[in-house]
Amino acid sequence: RGRGRGFHDIEDIFDAFSDIFGGARGGGRGRGRSERGRGRPGSDLRVSLSLTLEEIAEGTEKNLRLQKYLECESCDGTGAEGGMGGQNFSMCPKCDGTGEIRQVSRSVFGQVVNVQPCPRCEGEGRIIDNLCDDCGGEGRVQGEESISINVPPGVMEGNYLTLGDAGNAGLRGGPRGDLRIEIEEEPHEHFERDGLDIYYDLHLSFPKAALGTEVDVPTLEGEARLEVDPGVQAGKILRMRDRGLPDLEGSGQGDQMIRVHVWTPQELTAEEEELLDQLRAHDNFQPRPPEEDTQKSFFRRVSDVFS
Ligand SMILES: [Zn+2]
Ligand SMILES: [Zn+2]
Repeated sequence: RGRGRGFHDIEDIFDAFSDIFGGARGGGRGRGRSERGRGRPGSDLRVSLSLTLEEIAEGTEKNLRLQKYLECESCDGTGAEGGMGGQNFSMCPKCDGTGEIRQVSRSVFGQVVNVQPCPRCEGEGRIIDNLCDDCGGEGRVQGEESISINVPPGVMEGNYLTLGDAGNAGLRGGPRGDLRIEIEEEPHEHFERDGLDIYYDLHLSFPKAALGTEVDVPTLEGEARLEVDPGVQAGKILRMRDRGLPDLEGSGQGDQMIRVHVWTPQELTAEEEELLDQLRAHDNFQPRPPEEDTQKSFFRRVSDVFS
């Protein structure tokens, strides 16, 4: 079934996400890099997105509120009063608008040219005459942005997706950084995850284990009735097919595994002690190692059950 432990090639996950998130990229806000090409880029943002197993099973839509640098609206991100329309820039006198300082020195190897960004204009080639009041000339302000994300079914802890252009705004119109969203799984009150499978611990009383029983067990989609055959051994694993988690790439579905535990009473009344004492010597109550057992099914630790 090719389930493995669910480690995916990161490229695959990225591709899967970028198909889904394709619409969210750019999203009409795509100013930046190509338009202005000046200013330092904004830094990347990382956020973690915590999901329950139920959300992972179904897929979910989440809203994230991000504290981040946003382009200053008063100056169109330029940092200059009046923004794009204003005449607020002068050519940098130190580098004559090139944004670079060249230093030529002589060495035994001949002439060496050392090129560095201009410190006066930080490599931008121009300086602002009148700084924007709202952002103090940075072209960006601290703010909050909400984005909505569709998480596909089947993600797991450690998966992440990168949204280009959704990180911090750059300085004075520099390109935005990226936003990296990392998936975290919330611990579940009933289940442990192993790849696509989930494990549930079922505790049975000794009489129920011996006599067989019907129990309601939680699943990711509500409770399900489970029939336990008489004589179930502690340590047995019952498999409920397709009650686990879906594969992120749509190839299959995990199972819910029920680990059977038999509970032994910690204290006994005199009456209980008497009852058990009667059973103690019975032949049926002597443990038999598996190799002496004639029933083939005993060897199968995992059994399929229908519910
Ligand atoms: Zn300069
Ligand atoms: Zn501004």
